[in-house]
Amino acid sequence: MSVTTAPSPIETSMTTFENLIDGSWMPAGDGRTLDMLSPSDGIPFARIARGGAADVDAAVRAARQAFEDGAWSRLTAVERGRLMIRLGQKILDHFEELVQLEARDTGKPMKQARADINAAARYFEFYGSAADKFHGDVIPFLDGYMATVLREPKGVTGHIIPWNYPAQMVGRTLAPALAMGNATVMKPAEEACLTPLRIVQMAQEVGFPDGAINVVTGLGEEAGAALAAHPGIDFLSFTGSPEVGTLVQMAAARNHIGCVLELGGKSPQIVFDDADLDAVIPVAVNAIVQNGGQTCSAGSRLLVQQSLYDELLPRLTERFAQLRVGSHAMDLDCGPLISAGQKKRVQGFIARACEDGITVLAEARIADGVPAGGHYVAPVLFGPVPANNQLACEEVFGPVLSVLPFVDEADAVRLANNTEYGLVAGIWTRDGARQMRVAKKMRCGQVYVNGYGAGGGIELPFGGIKKSGHGREKGFEALREFSHTKTVVFKHG
Ligand code: NAD
Repeated sequence: MSVTTAPSPIETSMTTFENLIDGSWMPAGDGRTLDMLSPSDGIPFARIARGGAADVDAAVRAARQAFEDGAWSRLTAVERGRLMIRLGQKILDHFEELVQLEARDTGKPMKQARADINAAARYFEFYGSAADKFHGDVIPFLDGYMATVLREPKGVTGHIIPWNYPAQMVGRTLAPALAMGNATVMKPAEEACLTPLRIVQMAQEVGFPDGAINVVTGLGEEAGAALAAHPGIDFLSFTGSPEVGTLVQMAAARNHIGCVLELGGKSPQIVFDDADLDAVIPVAVNAIVQNGGQTCSAGSRLLVQQSLYDELLPRLTERFAQLRVGSHAMDLDCGPLISAGQKKRVQGFIARACEDGITVLAEARIADGVPAGGHYVAPVLFGPVPANNQLACEEVFGPVLSVLPFVDEADAVRLANNTEYGLVAGIWTRDGARQMRVAKKMRCGQVYVNGYGAGGGIELPFGGIKKSGHGREKGFEALREFSHTKTVVFKHG
């Protein structure tokens, strides 16, 4: 197996990471590989397998065997939970190694990578502890009957994850599926997938039976499409773009299976004129520069009450202009974007907003000495952005914040809901009645009042409506997604 366990394998050589199928690490069937480039300098530093349909097929068969009569299928919920808690601890034991790997692979600042590795461990702890606590029911029924409802795993679950939070995503998607007893096949993103591979290797080391977790790396249109379409999959979990989400949902429909889709957002933060600005400013800025704005729940629209505009803007502008962008190792406010393609996409949004005559209120600075070849984009603050402009409606997935003024509460609600997305919203006001009124009117899956969680904790159900997708992850809701009920009725007379 080529995933080395040395403390910092990535620093020494072009380590090759292989696929995990039925407990064995193996190259792609046809031997193809992909180079992994660090977003900080564009230099290749590792290699992954470029898996294809045959590799996916082998992985799905291994999962099916594990689910139906492998050692995995015989574990009790308590035993599954223990394995997961051990994995959470192992992640913490290898904390710095994983932080280095995540930062190098994604370009994110070290402090963000630290938060992400901690969250990855928390997912396995949380769902490990929950494995034996989410169970069936007994329903009062007719005289002479006992009606029970069993809570059962879906079977073999497919997991297609993105590049923006690879370590968190492996926990978010695999942990609830494993807690319920599913056997899994994961296809991580080709742009960044090394911590998922290392964490899965740790799962083997703590004793997960062969076939419970299988991983095939490679391109979306090859390994990803093969996994989505495979008739041996019982349920799909996808996080990524709406375009690919549509393809995944169509593939799921052809196999008559369900899926959970998390497809991003254009999330608003509404700042009323009684808000505590000392609290608003740092949170509003962080919500768009965290992970370079490459966060599905990024707070990318700041809705500001007109009467507050002149007071808030200079403070926001000043803070924004102080932001510094650098490599993962420089550990500044913002890292590079994931790829040259993502940089071009974000710069396209910025250029079009400028062509449309929208004012640049502030621009952050790329630090001196960033490595050549990295994909650096300075965060930009635009405002006022017209409500129907592309910048106010479409997901940029980069560090670009749009300020939109509003007149009153009704106007704020209308503007906040005025996109095709519906993932998260933030509300800033000291007025308790208004907090509740506006929270109820938000068309999205999570609302924060006087704060902004950007997806929030592991415990909090998370997911969207409209183009942001459907289904829920995190919290106990994810256990519901990765299981189904079976009603068993006994007639005893
Ligand atoms: P993507 O949707 O193309 O990729 C996400 C995952 O899907 C990756 O693992 C990829 O390999 C896989 N995939 C790609 N094509 C596939 C296919 N035909 N069938 C099955 N799986 C496939 O996202 P991207 O290209 O990495 O980014 C494009 C845009 O998507 C970004 O600019 C951003 O707007 C959005 N995005 C959103 C999120 C999110 O968390 N919501 C994450 C990543 C990207």
